[in-house]
Amino acid sequence: APYPLRMEGKVIRGFGRGSKELGIPTANLPVDDSLTPWIADIKSGVYFGWASLRPPPSHPNQPTASSEARSGFSVYPMVMSIGYNPVYENMERSAEVHVLHEFGADFYGVEMRLLITGFIREEKDYPVLEALIEDINIDCDVARNSLDREAWALRETGKGTLDGS
Ligand code: ADP
Ligand code: MG
Repeated sequence: APYPLRMEGKVIRGFGRGSKELGIPTANLPVDDSLTPWIADIKSGVYFGWASLRPPPSHPNQPTASSEARSGFSVYPMVMSIGYNPVYENMERSAEVHVLHEFGADFYGVEMRLLITGFIREEKDYPVLEALIEDINIDCDVARNSLDREAWALRETGKGTLDGS
């Protein structure tokens, strides 16, 4: 499918795999095949892009930019996994987003819009947790670096808004 890919929904509870305890919480989104037909035939793996949240989770040291005030959305870089949902015996797709930002609180129920701009790697099985965590940290670096470049290019050309509004 051509990038960017879009999806949106309200953050739901995940599979209780304790991502937060690993220091990498993943906000789960419901997957609706009719809204995101491309998700049926996309490769399982790690993707990156931008996440907009409304309302933005409160953060004491976070000034609100004027574009945020207008749309009510706050934009953050993100890295996400698209896989299969174990709750539905791996028949349905799952989407879990790690937002590259530190929040003061959970944001279940918040509306999240995603702009997926690229693919990092295919899914892998990890024999030990440490190897998984190490790879996720590399994924976050890859995403940050790519998105820094994208944000810069957007600013240079003056084209486009990240949240599609
Ligand atoms: P669950 O199994 O319910 O998804 P997680 O341990 O994966 O639980 O934690 C995910 C939740 O953590 C998200 O739904 C969100 O409310 C919260 N959260 C806090 N900070 C972040 C972040 N930077 N990225 C993603 N989710 C976050
Ligand atoms: Mg999760």
